[in-house]
Amino acid sequence: MADQETLKHKDLDGRAIAASINDDLKRKIDELTDNDWPPRLVSVTIGNVDAVGIYVRNQKRTAERIGISFEERHFPAEITEAEMQAAIQAMNASPHVTGIIIQRPVPKHLNVKLLQSSIHPLKDVEGLHPASIGNIVYNELVLGPCTAMASVEMLKRTGLELPGMEVVVIGHSEIVGKPIAFLLMAEGATVTVCHHMTRNLAVHSRQADAVFVAVGKPGLVTGNMIKPGAAVIDIGINQIEGPEGQLLTVGDCDYESCRDVAGWITPVPGGVGPVTVAMLMQNTVTAAHRQMDYYRSEYAANAWTTVPEGRGS
Ligand code: NAD
Repeated sequence: MADQETLKHKDLDGRAIAASINDDLKRKIDELTDNDWPPRLVSVTIGNVDAVGIYVRNQKRTAERIGISFEERHFPAEITEAEMQAAIQAMNASPHVTGIIIQRPVPKHLNVKLLQSSIHPLKDVEGLHPASIGNIVYNELVLGPCTAMASVEMLKRTGLELPGMEVVVIGHSEIVGKPIAFLLMAEGATVTVCHHMTRNLAVHSRQADAVFVAVGKPGLVTGNMIKPGAAVIDIGINQIEGPEGQLLTVGDCDYESCRDVAGWITPVPGGVGPVTVAMLMQNTVTAAHRQMDYYRSEYAANAWTTVPEGRGS
């Protein structure tokens, strides 16, 4: 039995972690800008944007603070898939667009996976293009899905040794749970993935040195499902009604009971969320470097290719 005195939880402060990542990125962005290659993000919203307003504002604020220009493009709810794909192709072709973010949800008649796949992989700053997901399977980890990268970054910040670590990932969605499992395997962890058909979640989670939860069900994981001293990375974002009828944002873990037994825990809000935005900025810097190299090598190889105005050769 572990000594309870040694198990005082440590909150993993996502805002502080994000601030340190963003500070490092600012220097790299200044260099890109000095090099005539200022990064620029385009955020695409379609139809009713109320649900995503806060996310877009956070992305814009962070981007502009560190020197990335951020443009919001809004498209009408009734736009067709073909029209939307054409708009994305135009952004793909523009050397002045570094990355394209498709804000979710999109109207039901549009296939978000198809739209995501229409983004050129060099401009896939969300890391959700099939090519980016595939790269993770091949252990190429520089650019990946932002939430998954942020979640694994949180675990790394504990200082725990990842090689050989027993990790349980609860939730196996394409954009969160599965990529987390691949990123962790690349780090040498032994990964168990649980989902809605897992027979007994607690049997798995109690064995784990670290538990990642990405489900969308408040209170799914409670303290008695956690091994004392384990790291708990809570990715869920849920709105629930508070005692006075006010809306509260909570994760998938019962924070109070998990905090009592966990060695580390991410709060919601203020945990994985801000680091996810920092990963979007990091992917943008990676994309800008890749595009700069691509355009400049094309220019060097082909006399007919011109480096666009404002993008020095
Ligand atoms: P999703 O609906 O695509 O997938 C949910 C997953 O949970 C599935 O794998 C399903 O099998 C599993 N599941 C459902 N019920 C379960 C149960 N009772 N026990 C075990 N597993 C169960 O969701 P998603 O897009 O992966 O998002 C998951 C959560 O993460 C949501 O709350 C979402 O808001 C949040 N999220 C957070 C961020 C962030 O930046 N922090 C980003 C994306 C999503």
